[in-house]
This record gives sequence, structure tokens and C-alpha cells, in this order.
Amino acid sequence: MFKKILIANRGEIALRVLRACHSLGIRTAAIYSLADSNANYVKMADEAVCIGPVASSESYLNIPSIISAAEVTDADAIHPGYGFLSENADFAEKVEKSGFVFIGPSSDVIRLMGDKVSARKAMTAAGITCVPGSDNVLSDDRTEVESISRQIGYPLIIKATGGGGGRGMRVVNEEKDLWSSVLTTREEAERGFKNSNVYVERFLDNPRHIEFQILADSFHNIIHLGERDCSLQRRHQKILEESPAPFIGDDLRNRIGELCVKAAHSIGYVGVGTFEFLLSGEECFFIEMNTRIQVEHPVTEMVTGVDLVRQQILVAAGYKMSLKQSDIIMRGHAIECRINAEDPLTWMPSPGSVTVYNVPGGPGIRLDSHVYHGYTVPPYYDSLVGKLIAYGYDRDQAIARMRVALSEFVIGDIKTNVPMHLEVLRDPDFCNGGVGIGYLDGFVKKLRR
Ligand code: ADP
Repeated sequence: MFKKILIANRGEIALRVLRACHSLGIRTAAIYSLADSNANYVKMADEAVCIGPVASSESYLNIPSIISAAEVTDADAIHPGYGFLSENADFAEKVEKSGFVFIGPSSDVIRLMGDKVSARKAMTAAGITCVPGSDNVLSDDRTEVESISRQIGYPLIIKATGGGGGRGMRVVNEEKDLWSSVLTTREEAERGFKNSNVYVERFLDNPRHIEFQILADSFHNIIHLGERDCSLQRRHQKILEESPAPFIGDDLRNRIGELCVKAAHSIGYVGVGTFEFLLSGEECFFIEMNTRIQVEHPVTEMVTGVDLVRQQILVAAGYKMSLKQSDIIMRGHAIECRINAEDPLTWMPSPGSVTVYNVPGGPGIRLDSHVYHGYTVPPYYDSLVGKLIAYGYDRDQAIARMRVALSEFVIGDIKTNVPMHLEVLRDPDFCNGGVGIGYLDGFVKKLRR
């Protein structure tokens, strides 16, 4: 087993990983930028290293600085969390070459699945249906691009092959807007991901976002832990997730789950991973794979009872998985609300000091958050201040518990999206279940009026 893990991240996920390490008796080394020197997980870690100034490009994305931190703390392994460098194949490769274990799949697998076009090809070869789209990245030949697009059919979505976090995507309704949109998306992709390659997919009409969690060890044992519904999104970013997905029967779950396991075998996957799909009618179309722990992993943990971060560390350390597919039984229902420091209606970030803080509790309530009374939410990183998770024996109970928990949750004087979540949880359409990815934008527009 690892003796010490360097946690190459910040915020709630740094705390989540730290807790998993300590429960396994593993020592922890935290990293922090100058903006995070007062963070609680920095103080709770066995050691902590300042890796740079507030700008993430010079701290949480600074590969040499992070590798040096692993060296000076004599860590065995590096946990990348999510975001930042977690899906950066060059980082994983440097970690491997520097003699540390990267807690995730191999850099080759990250590279393959991190490029959305190569991921689509690998998944098609494994028998998974992708959203109809271009087989390759778009060329500079406008006539060719227009012809490919016509064959796929409008509306379309242009996507950066290296995109992530809901960025690097543009919807096109008519051919007259196609070329200018391709050029703009390319520019954005170059700026955001240093990779200007884009491809095109059919834009599905208000599908649901359904994703499957898998877990794989290095002995070719791979299982799936069912699905999550992440259809509540703003600007293509998830805001509320739940498991199981409403109205997904055992047949569809088993069929897609088994396909994901097969696909994971075909690429030699090790670790935790997520296959993301859009569900349109009865059909599930693959969109991408995330080769890391996801923000929304707790809902799967609540309904399966499996500690995913613990399992992730164990398989990275070379342990053989004791869990079998037949051990995975989804019981009850879990919902996660992402609590962001932002205006609930305009989504403008609202960093600042937390001068009033009251956390919810009671049966079935879990709060994954690094925030405390007196904490200052820095303006430099994403606005997630915590994840509130409610578990119930069924969806109605989970919703009822979440409503109470949200109404107890006080985080002042900053603005948060707690009021928006409360409105959603009272909305009959949401409560009936199964809303599509367009639901939240429409709902918030109504609230703004
Ligand atoms: P990212 O890597 O930025 O998260 P994804 O490919 O996972 O991008 O897509 C994020 C979200 O964008 C999806 O959950 C969905 O809401 C929307 N989206 C992506 N592709 C399509 C599509 N072909 N049709 C409709 N919506 C899409």
C-alpha cells in the first residue's frame, strides 16, 4: 500500500481524497496556491507544499512544481482529483516517468479518450453507438465541411476534440452559420485547450444526459456501478445529479452497463471512469469518457455503498478488486446539488467571506465541502463551494430530505445557488422525473421574469 499520496488539487475534492487516504492509513501531502494557504484540508494534511501564486497556470496547472512537491514530500503516488491536470496525458506521463504512481489510467488511455474523435473511434470499434457525426476532425476545406454537415443533418453541434467543462461547443442551426461557427470554435479551442481541432455531431433535441460509472483493477476485473442522470445543466455544465436515473429500467441499465465494461476492456482501462451518453427516446448515444473521479461520484456511492475514491486508490496500488458485478445492488435514490458561490439567477460568480454558516444534517444527508465559518471563497477558481447529497429509500424521500436540507443551509454573506435548487426541487416537472438537458435553462428563464 502507498505510504503517502500527494493530492494535486484543491477545494472539496482535495478534502474528499484526504479523507479516503486517512481512512486507509495513508499519509497525505497537500499542495496549495497562495490563495488557498488557509484552506482546512491544507491544515488537515500531514504535510503541505505551496506550489505557486494564485493563478492556476502557475500553481495547480504547474507540472514541474507539482512533481517537485511529490519529490520533496517523498510521496509514492499523485491523486489528480478532477479538473486541473486530472485528464492531462502529458502530466500523467511525467508522473509515471518521475517514478510516482498516477492515480488513474495510463497516460496512453487518457490520451486516447481525452481526444473526443479518437474516443468516438475506439467506442465505435467496441460496439458502442456514438451520436451521428463526422468520423474525423474537420479539414480546412469549406465545401467538404459543408457537405459532411449536410449529410449529418441540422441542427449540429461543433465540438473541440480536446474540449471539456462544457466549453468549446457551438450549436449551428443552418448552413449559413456553419463556417463562421467552425472558425470561432477553432479559435476558442486553440485558446482554451491549445488544440484547434474540431468535429461535428448532430445536435439532439433535449436529450437526457445519462452516464455509467465503471471500476477496473489491473487484473482485468471490470464492473459497472449503474448510472447517473446529469440532465440538469447550465451552459452544458452539470448542476444537479441523481442515481438511479428516473425511468431507466434494469434492461437498459444492464445492456449499456455491460457494453461499457466491454469497451473498458477493449482499451485496457484501470481505475474509475465514466462513460457519458445522451439518451434520446430509447436510444443511448456515447458522447465522451471521463478518465477520472467525477464531481458527482457521491450519488453512486450512496446507492451502491461503494467508496469510489477508496477503491480508486486500492486499484492504483495494485490491489485486486474484491467486488464482483453481482455485489453491485443499487438501493434507494440519491440526489446531489452542486452548491456554487454565484448569483442564483444570473450565475455571476460571488466570491467573498463566509460570515454566516449553518450546515444541514439529519438522516440521509451528506455534505462534501471544504467551507467553514470564516472561510473566504477565492475569486480565482471555479465557484463550487460544496456538494449537498440527499439519500432516501426512493426518489420522493430523497427530494423531501433535500428540500429540508437546502432550507437549513445558510452560507452568507456570499450569494449561492441554494435558492435556485430549492425552486427546482419544488417544480412539478422535476419532481415527476426524466427532464432533458434543456430543462434548467428554460426553468431559470421563467424565474428571472
Ligand atoms: P464536456 O467535455 O465539455 O463536458 P460533453 O461532450 O460531455 O462536453 O457535453 C456536455 C454537454 O453538452 C452534454 O451533457 C449535453 O448537455 C451537451 N451536448 C453535448 N453534445 C451534444 C449533442 N450532440 N446534442 C445535444 N447536446 C449535446
